[in-house]
Amino acid sequence: MPTARPMPPAHLASPYAAGVAPAPDVAEWARKAFVLPGGPLHNPDHAHLYEAHIAALWVADPFTRRQRSILADARLGRLSGDAWAQAERRALYAAWFGGVPDFVIRLYAPFWAACSDADACALVEHELYHCAQDLDPFGAPRFTKDGRPIYALQGHDVEEFVGVTRRYGPGAIDGSVSRLVDAALDPSGRVATSSIAAACGTCLVR
Ligand SMILES: [Zn+2]
Repeated sequence: MPTARPMPPAHLASPYAAGVAPAPDVAEWARKAFVLPGGPLHNPDHAHLYEAHIAALWVADPFTRRQRSILADARLGRLSGDAWAQAERRALYAAWFGGVPDFVIRLYAPFWAACSDADACALVEHELYHCAQDLDPFGAPRFTKDGRPIYALQGHDVEEFVGVTRRYGPGAIDGSVSRLVDAALDPSGRVATSSIAAACGTCLVR
């Protein structure tokens, strides 16, 4: 039974809106669609997140960082700062998410309200890829003493300027652009339109 892609509340969806609101329906939808086995867009790359508490938040305020419009981001839920900053954040998280989550995914509500299902899925999965398990110096996944994964944020696989690739080719520096090009040209790993429809409950496929 397809579930509908969750949408932000109307008062956060317009490009002139401001404010935030917890998005528990997005968190649950993302977990069922991408993380849990059997989901319509299940990806075993997220296996370390089976037990993770991933919270989601709608944000309506535009955000530009390093000359880029931010459409979504992912951060650790872990509390930081001084004791009062932590107490404040703990109370906020308790009210919004029922406790301190492992990760918080923030979505720019006006973009989400207007984008296609495929772009929404790609955006959420981009943020899920940032939600990583920490690695020890030998590259092995780290766990707590009681066997829970220790979480961390992971950067992008490819960080490059189009101009550098244009001038030096995809193999320049570390070959990461070549790996991206290989993935871009290989349709065998692509999620099916019908899977996106199954996750989003729209009528892309009849
Ligand atoms: Zn990113």
